[in-house]
Amino acid sequence: MRAAQFQAFEGPLPVTQLPDPEPGDDGAVVEVRATGVCRSDWHAWMGHDPTVHPPHVPGHEFAGEVVALGKEVRGHQPGERVTAPFCCGCGRCEACASGHQNLCHHEYQPGFDGPGSFAEYVFVPHADVNLVRLPEVLGFDEAASLGCRFMTSFAALVDKARLAPGETLAVFGCGGLGLSAVMIGAALGAEVIAIDVDPSKLPRAADLGARQVIDASRTDPVEAVWNLTRAGAQVSLDAVGDPGSAAAAVRSLGRRGRHVQAGLLLGGQAHPPMPMLEVIKRELTVVGVHGMAASRYPALLAFVTAGRLDVGRLIGRRIGLEDAGAELSAMGAFAQQGLSIITRF
Ligand SMILES: [Zn+2]
Ligand SMILES: [Zn+2]
Repeated sequence: MRAAQFQAFEGPLPVTQLPDPEPGDDGAVVEVRATGVCRSDWHAWMGHDPTVHPPHVPGHEFAGEVVALGKEVRGHQPGERVTAPFCCGCGRCEACASGHQNLCHHEYQPGFDGPGSFAEYVFVPHADVNLVRLPEVLGFDEAASLGCRFMTSFAALVDKARLAPGETLAVFGCGGLGLSAVMIGAALGAEVIAIDVDPSKLPRAADLGARQVIDASRTDPVEAVWNLTRAGAQVSLDAVGDPGSAAAAVRSLGRRGRHVQAGLLLGGQAHPPMPMLEVIKRELTVVGVHGMAASRYPALLAFVTAGRLDVGRLIGRRIGLEDAGAELSAMGAFAQQGLSIITRF
């Protein structure tokens, strides 16, 4: 198969020929039809993730067609249109048994623990646990983000923050994760405030449903949120993964506000200072989100297909496999506008 593989951290990703993956006893091989380029791929490429060892094929947010299944797989057929959560579970451990497959004790992440979806084919373990059938109305490119950024934002706002209609939501960062949150927050009936240090990203956020936008390169975003809301935001989401934005998001919350940390903090940023005095004084809730369990997909797909969300509007660019390296470099500088999706293999 053709795959974009890096030989060294921060090195180029030439498209090379690699052996096709095998499904094993209970896994699947999916022919990748679309795969997003996510900031987590950038972390893998930079060497921030200790599970990644070159040579390596990144990619974890994909949609495609099942081409091979292990002999123990019962619930799926070749030819099915599918996606899978980036955080695949084993289906047997205590976390999986309690419905939290995304917190599996034997977690497998394509593109981190093994070769990813910047390739013609990708391996998905434990297919009966992890494969998610896609509704016909969703294109592969639209569905790709459902494996990572869109589903993470859905889990953050619906399951963790329990965002309610009329509440104020401050979204820090308008990359793929943040824009997904803006769209979901608006669909839930929240008053969404979108914040970014790059003002060129704000019009898209407004277009996707943000009532207010804040250019954090010119103004202190915490002050700006308080000015707009008077009582502070009720829910905040850090979609950047940066010590500054994580703390600012928490500080923008009013009394009894809920903060969800979705952006990854890795390497030297893994232990950021937190404004715990404000957490105490305003009785804030700070919670993390690590993707979403496969078992929550019916709720997510129902939410999307009820016609409330046009996920395709999140897509900024469709690119080829050979463009993966350049796209990862751009990711370091937060240069993307919307989601960049590889659709040519
Ligand atoms: Zn991702
Ligand atoms: Zn498990």
